[in-house]
Amino acid sequence: MAMISRLPGPLHQRWDWQLQGACRRSDARLFFHPSGERGRAHDAREEAAKRICGDCPVRAECLAHALSVREPYGVWGGMGEDERRAVMGPARRGACRTA
Ligand code: SF4
Repeated sequence: MAMISRLPGPLHQRWDWQLQGACRRSDARLFFHPSGERGRAHDAREEAAKRICGDCPVRAECLAHALSVREPYGVWGGMGEDERRAVMGPARRGACRTA
């Protein structure tokens, strides 16, 4: 689960970018792996999601959001879970309370 305390408030201006996401016209199951998915099936699904992100007009906003809230699941801004984890580094205990 994302760090809820790091989510931006309810101001619609901060969330409007989501209305322009290319994934709104796609099957959401492409962006989040089903339980137990591994190997080639995982890679193929994730690559398909990333291709959609590649043409998305709000890719930068999406990735910035996912990194800022440390979104742990799914493809966001063209990056998969492992890629984002590599960029973000390990979560610090208590970080959500002090941020
Ligand atoms: S970058 Fe990808 S996940 Fe983010 S809004 Fe665009 S299509 Fe959706």
